[in-house]
Amino acid sequence: VRITPVGDPAPRSGQRALLLHFTDITHLREAEEMRRDFVANVSHELRTPLTAVLGFIETLRGPAKDDTAARDRFLGIMEGEARRMNRLVSDLLSLSRVESQERQRPSTEVDLRAVLDGVIAALKPAAEDQGSTLQLDLQPADPALLLGAAGQGFRMKGDRDQLMQVFLNLTENALKYGGAGRPVTLRLGWQDGTGNLKGPLLRADVIDRGDGIDPLHLPRLTERFYRVDTHRSRAMGGTGLGLAIVKHIVNRHRGRLRIDSVQGQGSTFTVLFPAD
Ligand code: ADP
Repeated sequence: VRITPVGDPAPRSGQRALLLHFTDITHLREAEEMRRDFVANVSHELRTPLTAVLGFIETLRGPAKDDTAARDRFLGIMEGEARRMNRLVSDLLSLSRVESQERQRPSTEVDLRAVLDGVIAALKPAAEDQGSTLQLDLQPADPALLLGAAGQGFRMKGDRDQLMQVFLNLTENALKYGGAGRPVTLRLGWQDGTGNLKGPLLRADVIDRGDGIDPLHLPRLTERFYRVDTHRSRAMGGTGLGLAIVKHIVNRHRGRLRIDSVQGQGSTFTVLFPAD
């Protein structure tokens, strides 16, 4: 509360007037709290691999100095930890870049089908290595829906690299958490407007047949560093930032991310984008 004396509105009354300014700082407090949590999380995520690397250096200088087999094994572990830190720093840079660009709407034309083809080409070898299939399912468009947008294929206004990142992150997750040997499908089509998103909308679904996600976790899944199972995520090389990056890129494109999951059956991550 800020108090300012103001000129006496009734000079003969002998009373003075005060102006009271009330400012709601709840959102400032919340933002400050989020910033503090974020710094604490980043420090913790970096400290874990750093502690491991420092520990192995000490062992290599001391007890394992002349043990060639141990040296090779420890160097392998140290390389893994250094790579983890590298991934974390890359994801932090991506996140800060997309956050700062969130208000600038991209203006170039992007063919979403070409983006999904690129994602499949990039991840097919990894999918095959784990015995999973990865395929694109194109949905025929309803001609009435596309009146006006007709003939534009799957084109939208967007940032190609960022859209690529969205579907790489979602598809990598589908492969990681969907389970080895289970299929992953990318489905692309058009749909009518919904809520405050005016149609026609481009709709892309990333569908897995994994164990699904407990509904309890769904509202928090796109928070930075939120994981259902931290140990599992780390073991699979996750940084906990993938979905936060996805959410900011989708926001920048004025789109929407929806997550549907049935435990024991799988998850579908749906992204809706206005075409212009
Ligand atoms: P991470 O680097 O841990 O994968 P993300 O931000 O990409 O971070 O995802 C956050 C968490 O959401 C993951 O740790 C995982 O618990 C959960 N998750 C994401 N995608 C899926 C999926 N397709 N199936 C099940 N759980 C998922």
